[in-house]
Amino acid sequence: MSAHPPSEHPAARTTAGANDRAPNRIALLLLDIDGTLLYARGTGRIAFSRALRATFGWEDDIAYINFSGATDLDVLRQICERHGATPKGPEIERFFGHLALELDAGLTATPPKVFPGVRELLRALSADGDTLIGLVTGNTGECAQIKLRHAGLHGHFVLGAFGHEHADRVEIARLALRRADARAAGRPLDPVVLIGDTPADIAAARAIGARAMAVATGQHDAASLRAAEADLVVESLDDPAVWRLLKA
Ligand SMILES: [Mg+2]
Repeated sequence: MSAHPPSEHPAARTTAGANDRAPNRIALLLLDIDGTLLYARGTGRIAFSRALRATFGWEDDIAYINFSGATDLDVLRQICERHGATPKGPEIERFFGHLALELDAGLTATPPKVFPGVRELLRALSADGDTLIGLVTGNTGECAQIKLRHAGLHGHFVLGAFGHEHADRVEIARLALRRADARAAGRPLDPVVLIGDTPADIAAARAIGARAMAVATGQHDAASLRAAEADLVVESLDDPAVWRLLKA
């Protein structure tokens, strides 16, 4: 429990007046996970392969899958199509259950790498009462929490939308925005910024009218992210331009 009531918290005092936005506005920062906050060192792919064996009995190293910017539901559909199968709801649920168990085991043995500036950015924004921090990720909700917990990044996110809820990242972003609106309880969300590491994240940002910010810590370099028309491209999240974009 905090030793200070929210209005008297030292962090609140240091951030009050740091910008001249209307007092009732609230910034929304939506973040992708893989390639943006952390690198799971290939544990996701191994977990997927093991969960396929446990659920369907298939031996498949899924070398043909590109996870960059993908969603877990879409990846599962691609794999099932290749195996000539059409999974039903309960099977999908069982698969995602196995996936979470395998991922947790994999990350216990091989913890994720957290990219530069991520911890500092999340810590600073969490202390700022004028920003909501959420997730827009292709991971299932359970896998997202497992990755964040193993990276020590849990506890910063007040909302999110996930890869078990929709196969299309644009729809996941729309869902997150609706949840943020509900959370803001009538306060206008301004600015809305979505940070990701792939052109798919940039497209999702565009679709919800958010500022698209791209970070070149994933598979895409700064030039290809610029070509995908991000509003801002940075090499890593310790670039002060990230903070300026949110507080502009
Ligand atoms: Mg990503």
